[in-house]
Amino acid sequence: MRKAIFPGTFDPFTVGHFSIVERGLTLFDEIIIAIGHNQSKKTLFPIAARMDMIRQAFEGYGRVAVRQYDSLTIDFAQSVGAGFILRGLRTVGDFEYEKTIADTHRAIGGVETVILFTESRYAHISSTVARDLIRFGKDISDFLPPDVKMIPPK
Ligand code: ADP
Repeated sequence: MRKAIFPGTFDPFTVGHFSIVERGLTLFDEIIIAIGHNQSKKTLFPIAARMDMIRQAFEGYGRVAVRQYDSLTIDFAQSVGAGFILRGLRTVGDFEYEKTIADTHRAIGGVETVILFTESRYAHISSTVARDLIRFGKDISDFLPPDVKMIPPK
């Protein structure tokens, strides 16, 4: 069985992330969306809200699970028996970072990273921009996956 984790901060999980998971399901039997939860890293959305919004997005998807982790990504992948790490790429700016961590995960854990290019229509979608819009009171429903209602962060 081909199992992958899709690790990220997902603050919040966007329609761009959703598209990567949906397309990943054509490659993997099971995908675990793995929310990196670092107590010292400040996020806008609490971990419980991030999990709930992702659960809403994938309600009825039997092959997608959501977990949080506070260890190294490679240790989490191995602890759940995942042979692959799924990531998404928007720009050349993403490339250097993704390559470095993919090389590291292969070197220290023998786990391959599979990277999908974003669909062009989602290339501008980012959690950072979504957070900025929220801070200025703008609606971000276009940034969220279908069927997801934002859980207000405060
Ligand atoms: P991290 O903090 O690990 O970068 P993110 O939550 O920002 O986590 O992103 C998780 C993954 O999703 C990363 O591989 C990122 O490049 C990818 N990603 C983010 N937004 C998009 C998008 N609009 N289209 C495709 N991939 C995306």
